[in-house]
Amino acid sequence: MPRVRVLVLQHGLGALDYAVPDGLDLGPGDIVEVPLGPRTIVGVVWEADRWAAREVADAKLRAVVRRFDVPAMTAGLRRLIEWTGAYYMAPPAAVLRMALSVPSALVAAAGVIEYRLGAVPDKLTPQRTAAAERLGGRQGSVRELARHGGVSEGVIRGMVKAGMLTPIAVSPDAAPPVPDPDFAQPVLSYEQAVAAEDIARAVGTRDFAPFVLDGVTGSGKTEVYFEGIAAALRADGGRETGTGQTLVLVPEIALTAPWLARFAARFGCAPTPWHSDLRGSERRRAWRAVASGDARVVVGARSALFLPYADLRLIVVDEAHESSFKQDEGVQYHARDVAVMRAQIEGIAVVLATATPAIETRVQVARGRYTELKLPTRFGGAQLPRVATIDLRTNPPPRGHWLSLPLVGALRETFVAGEQSLLFLNRRGYAPLTLCRSCGERIECPQCTAWLVEHRLTGRLQCHHCGYNVPVPKLCPACAAPDSLVPCGPGVERVAEEVARVLPDLRVALVTSDTIFSPARAAALVDAVEAHEIDLLIGTQLVTKGYHFPDLMLVGVVDADLGLAGGDLRAGERTFQQIAQVSGRAGRGAKPGRVLLQTHQPEARIMRALVDYDAEGFYAAETDARRDLGLPPFGRLAGIVVSGEDEAAVAATARSLGRSAPQADGLAVLGPAPAPLAMLRGRHRQRLLVHARRSLDLQGIIAEWLEGVAVPASVRVTVDIDPYNFL
Ligand SMILES: [Zn+2]
Ligand SMILES: [Zn+2]
Repeated sequence: MPRVRVLVLQHGLGALDYAVPDGLDLGPGDIVEVPLGPRTIVGVVWEADRWAAREVADAKLRAVVRRFDVPAMTAGLRRLIEWTGAYYMAPPAAVLRMALSVPSALVAAAGVIEYRLGAVPDKLTPQRTAAAERLGGRQGSVRELARHGGVSEGVIRGMVKAGMLTPIAVSPDAAPPVPDPDFAQPVLSYEQAVAAEDIARAVGTRDFAPFVLDGVTGSGKTEVYFEGIAAALRADGGRETGTGQTLVLVPEIALTAPWLARFAARFGCAPTPWHSDLRGSERRRAWRAVASGDARVVVGARSALFLPYADLRLIVVDEAHESSFKQDEGVQYHARDVAVMRAQIEGIAVVLATATPAIETRVQVARGRYTELKLPTRFGGAQLPRVATIDLRTNPPPRGHWLSLPLVGALRETFVAGEQSLLFLNRRGYAPLTLCRSCGERIECPQCTAWLVEHRLTGRLQCHHCGYNVPVPKLCPACAAPDSLVPCGPGVERVAEEVARVLPDLRVALVTSDTIFSPARAAALVDAVEAHEIDLLIGTQLVTKGYHFPDLMLVGVVDADLGLAGGDLRAGERTFQQIAQVSGRAGRGAKPGRVLLQTHQPEARIMRALVDYDAEGFYAAETDARRDLGLPPFGRLAGIVVSGEDEAAVAATARSLGRSAPQADGLAVLGPAPAPLAMLRGRHRQRLLVHARRSLDLQGIIAEWLEGVAVPASVRVTVDIDPYNFL
């Protein structure tokens, strides 16, 4: 009897064998429905030699129910799923789930009926007249038209009955518009043109070609990789029109409005978005269009990497240095690294675009594995901002203030000149700590080892780790003293309060994930700043990303030392990236901007490098330090977190892991020790850290080790390969 091996969408089950019923022709990649116990489940037919499966006699074999009428998963994506599962030590089914994240998309949808205004009779009720006027040529469902017409659904249904609205059958899987590579030819500088040509040529050749597109903020990286997208749009997969697809990965989808506008100006229409906020029908349409090849350019969050592209030719990772590309839960993959791996498997080009390439990326350039494309100057001859430090030891702000006199003076000058400013402080809320003056109590999250952060905008204390929040109490929760709670330290809300006191004329906008939580909010902010309704932006790292405000002439970094405290191996690098990015927001027109860094250590190497634009010197020193210590990318790390609600069971499991730690030359296991976040969401946490020489089979060693340790059902052990988070 013919049989197939199927990787099913169920953790812990892996591959299972099924019989192929008569008349069904199945090959690797086909997406099928198979029985599992009393239910059925989705799976993908796989090459039998790739997964082991339990031996089942022919007579006991159950049959595949059906094959879904969607394109088979390509070999490239199957290899990517295998690699990701093996490298990040995740169940292959968990990776497969990211590729098949929209089960409803496997089945063609029934058509829906939409309506559009047809013949309008002379005599109408006032309601219908008003609705007809508002609707104009708009097409939509009864509900959508009622919303746009400002009337009830009953009115719209009445208009349908009267024949005023014409029914139109619509396929919900209508293809997205095709971006036109010739819609608007760009004007590129010489350096941009050279880089664009290199990328376009690589897209045409169908070879693995990793690029680092390294240019200071404002140097026009986007315009350069747009030409790679144009080349992919023209790339011909044997059909008359092009078929090549591009994926653009962005770190923060809420901030893509300006990027989308530039894309539409270059290509004449919008790309296909992919992110967690899509409506069900939008996800479905996007998935099917990606699989059929109709979605030619996809812009999305990291999970877009695992979509089933029909003819992928180019991957762009925008702001490739961003650590948010590392996923912290579930399959703990790094989207930048998986993007490069997908490009290698598919034999295509990948562009890592960034003004501050990560050390891992720089080392690949130095080793000759990645091609570096440098855009050294700002586009249109704009000059880089002047950067200076303000020594907080000699210019301390008054008690209860966080802005030094020189910074306040600079803000005032900028305002008087009719220009805009930005204050950067990577701390949401009003104050990071609330303290009781009478008993010394520090208010902590009941579920996490973390202070609660006061948010004045909402009047609540919030945990930034688990989301727990309570109204700000009137009495101290420990000693019940009234009016004894004092906020300690600044968040952006408190800086805004200080500005309102010392510079009351400035119109201020707060830019944090609490205020800019949707693309619509981001677009409204951009409009307000461009219309000069805002004099000063005060924001967290959200403001470091993607905005272009030509009249923003001053950037003040409230606490340049903040990111260095309690640092992990990337603290210096991350701080440098962040401050360099936010500095790049100053002065993008003809006039140079200025950047002021408030710091207690102006003589520190990182501050000198920021002032002198000596990125090369800074990175060389950081890279040397990592090489000396054998830290990534010169050595390898894996974090192991043992967690559970039962503290004793967690500690016992962590101890037994520690006792049985593998011993090998070039391998060290640190811990167990309570994690810095010793409790998270009510779970106790212990950490171990594995540090290994590059030549060792880290995953193999860890797998063997974990297999030998009994873990109680109440305890979870998770492995984080190449960790970015050490909390
Ligand atoms: Zn108290
Ligand atoms: Zn919490």
